[in-house]
Amino acid sequence: MASLLAAVISLVEKFGKNLSFKVGTKGIIIFSFLLKLKLKCFIKKKNLLHSDVLFNTEEKICCYFCLRGLLSNHLILPFSNVSLQCFMNSILQCLSNTHDLRDYCLRNTHHTDLNNNCRAKAVLMEEFAKLTQSLWTSASSEAISPSDFKMQIQKYAPRFVGYNQQDAQEFLRFLLDGLHNEVNRVTVKPRSPMEDFDHVSDDEKGKRMWNKYLESENSKVVDLFVGQLKSSLTCNECGFCSTVFDPFWDLSLPIAKTSGEVSLMDCLRLFTREDVLDGNERPTCHRCKTRRKCTKKFTIQKFPKILVLHLKRFSECRVRTSKLSTFVNFPLKELDLREFASDNSVNAVYNLYAVSNHTGSSLGGHYTAYCRNPCIGEWYTYNDSRVSPMSSSQVRSSDAYVLFYESAASSRM
Ligand SMILES: [Zn+2]
Repeated sequence: MASLLAAVISLVEKFGKNLSFKVGTKGIIIFSFLLKLKLKCFIKKKNLLHSDVLFNTEEKICCYFCLRGLLSNHLILPFSNVSLQCFMNSILQCLSNTHDLRDYCLRNTHHTDLNNNCRAKAVLMEEFAKLTQSLWTSASSEAISPSDFKMQIQKYAPRFVGYNQQDAQEFLRFLLDGLHNEVNRVTVKPRSPMEDFDHVSDDEKGKRMWNKYLESENSKVVDLFVGQLKSSLTCNECGFCSTVFDPFWDLSLPIAKTSGEVSLMDCLRLFTREDVLDGNERPTCHRCKTRRKCTKKFTIQKFPKILVLHLKRFSECRVRTSKLSTFVNFPLKELDLREFASDNSVNAVYNLYAVSNHTGSSLGGHYTAYCRNPCIGEWYTYNDSRVSPMSSSQVRSSDAYVLFYESAASSRM
């Protein structure tokens, strides 16, 4: 038993270092076999994974959930279809596969943030964390019922409850905003006057604007999801360029109308393309002191850790009238966004880890999610109460609606 255990521990350490297990390799087959035979009781009795000697926290968390999955023959849990609408399921599964957000919940770090803030009520975060915990640690292979979470959503955002034709991206924005507000490290927002940053360089201005943003909005959610967009307005008459920096939680990308397929890069180029403001839209040039024809352009000033890209398949008015089912070809790995950066010497490479899909028309449809498990790197389809493994070659489809990318610098795979 002792030597067997030593062999297994060395395997865990070997795989644990990469923070991922390659399912299907010889090692993991032996590994899971050994575990099932010999380690199940041992882990329970000795609390192996809670020993600080063997693993650091990161390794422990990753190993723990891989082991659990192997021991119980399941790793991924779907939601039961009793209470949540499919657009909620889809978004929640994407978020629960967001490595750092998942760990934030599993480690109960949100409690520290809540305590520091002396907040009495943070029910949405609490229920979200509980839901994430039960998805990843539940001992049964039954689907999870998110009824408590739903109750909080009902209170917090009643407009999202009741019918299925809601927008997954709107729900995501609303949910992230709600979670952020409850774990915001800033409790008293400063009421400093608007400063004039016009005398400093663009880069410096961007930094100062970002710090200013953090003075009032600063949380784990912001750490992960928020980036900064630079918009430059150039006067066609005198060439004066004024810049504005704004935080963004996701980017809504237009889809070029075409009969064939488009690439995600095409959508990003359309989003960042120079736009001429003329006629009634003419802005006031600060140098000319009068309204001038101007050129507007977006660049990404600060890249977020998690980049959410929303494909604008639906017309923008409140009542959806049409849906574009154009196939948008997006990379699963190494999406390089340097050409859209304000400073293109930065490293801006991303890997995909989740997709919220919408099938059907603008009048009726269904949401599903494709997610890459942060521990084992395999893709799964989540369809309400069903979950099944899928090939990474099936991830791209004309149903893709919201894409979740993680920075390759912090990527697990
Ligand atoms: Zn001008």
